[in-house]
Amino acid sequence: MADADAATIEEAKVRLQVAAARQEESGQGIARIPRSAFQALGITEGDPVEIEGKRVTAALAIPTYSEDESLSVIRLDGLQRGNAETSSGEHVTVRRAESRPATRVVFAPAQREMRLQGQGEALKRVFFRKPLVAGDLVATHGQQPVQDVPPQVRRMFNAPAYALTQIRLQVVSTVPKGIVHIDENTEVELRAEFEEPRDGRGTVNYDDVGGMEDTITALREMVELPLRYPELFTRLGVDPPKGVLLHGPPGTGKTRLAQAVANESDAEFFTINGPEIMGSAYGESEKRLREVFEEASRVAPAIVFIDEIDSIAPKRQNVTGEAEKRLVAQLLTLMDGLEARSNLVVIAATNRPDAVDEALRRPGRFDREIIIGVPDEKGRREILAIHTRGMPLGEGVDLTELARSTHGFVGADLAALAREAAIEAVRRIMPKIDFDERTVPSEVLETLQVERNDFKAALKR
Ligand code: ADP
Repeated sequence: MADADAATIEEAKVRLQVAAARQEESGQGIARIPRSAFQALGITEGDPVEIEGKRVTAALAIPTYSEDESLSVIRLDGLQRGNAETSSGEHVTVRRAESRPATRVVFAPAQREMRLQGQGEALKRVFFRKPLVAGDLVATHGQQPVQDVPPQVRRMFNAPAYALTQIRLQVVSTVPKGIVHIDENTEVELRAEFEEPRDGRGTVNYDDVGGMEDTITALREMVELPLRYPELFTRLGVDPPKGVLLHGPPGTGKTRLAQAVANESDAEFFTINGPEIMGSAYGESEKRLREVFEEASRVAPAIVFIDEIDSIAPKRQNVTGEAEKRLVAQLLTLMDGLEARSNLVVIAATNRPDAVDEALRRPGRFDREIIIGVPDEKGRREILAIHTRGMPLGEGVDLTELARSTHGFVGADLAALAREAAIEAVRRIMPKIDFDERTVPSEVLETLQVERNDFKAALKR
């Protein structure tokens, strides 16, 4: 570039500390940065920026919330933190991005349970002008508007909803490579089949568990920190925890939380289901258990998640069968055999902490405990926001009010409620659907909204 000023601006970069995006802004592809960073980079609101952690990704820059203004932070959601291979508290380098129009972008579902049909055109509207990098995980989103920005910038984000739930996709490939965006001329393909994310990375992250702020902080200290920075512990001469016991009622998000910690720590995730492993043939259960621990140690950093541990390791005085006794003994041996600095953490979940063999709760085994309770109103509000994140919601839908009227609901109940409400909305437009057609016309799709009454009807079920 001939212009000297432009060249300096292009080289300009700022170092910012990563912080989590607000729950409701998650999945929108924006990065909140201080106004001073806009000046330093020579960019304006809505411009694309390159974000470099251990990997490079891109986002549209939006001024940060006023209370953050004096802090050198960049707010990124969980998918973006994964895309940049960074996590909250770490630093990333931010530059102005030269985003090029793509001639072709290929997406694939990043969720195993999701099968999509080639609706490339609809996706084109959702991701129009958003910077994308091949390998990124991205999300479709509903119409919750981005706050505190001028209308012309906000319009860029209020793309029509793609589906009634938030869908996570992988950007499989782009032409050209590097940071690109979709414009009128881009050919967009959506593959039907699930595509294994880069490094087997899962899509669940801290943004996906609601009402658990304190729990996440505690787990980050106990699990993420030692997995990411084992040298901290070596240096201090203390052993990081090997085992953490999560206890709380079913459906409160224990499994989801463990997956989120694994993903945010860049650790491999292994699940052992208590009742399932108990059902195996003679000798098989111990073998399975050993195999999982061996494999996890081999690929560490790793998290082994044991769901319903009380069925594997019930109090020994309650145990009558030889098989159970051997399995408890095997688990104890495996826990004791773990090197303190093996970079492997075992997280176990139970609904009945009193039913777990005390020997497992001794020091060096599951010596940390975290209670996951039934969510309070604020927690329910957060969980509802997560499960309606991708939904086009009618104006009358008030999540705060819904949170108030769902006392006693756990996360799984609230997820079911949101799903039911969406099905109610689909029922309403059924008469408009011509069943001879293979797809629903876009005029009909665009009127599809989940209304207050849909939630009311869902609550009655
Ligand atoms: P647990 O392991 O405690 O039985 P899960 O993690 O399996 O519960 O939760 C089941 C489902 O309920 C999750 O997949 C999620 O959809 C929803 N869910 C539960 N708790 C939460 C939460 N705190 N935040 C968001 N979703 C939740």
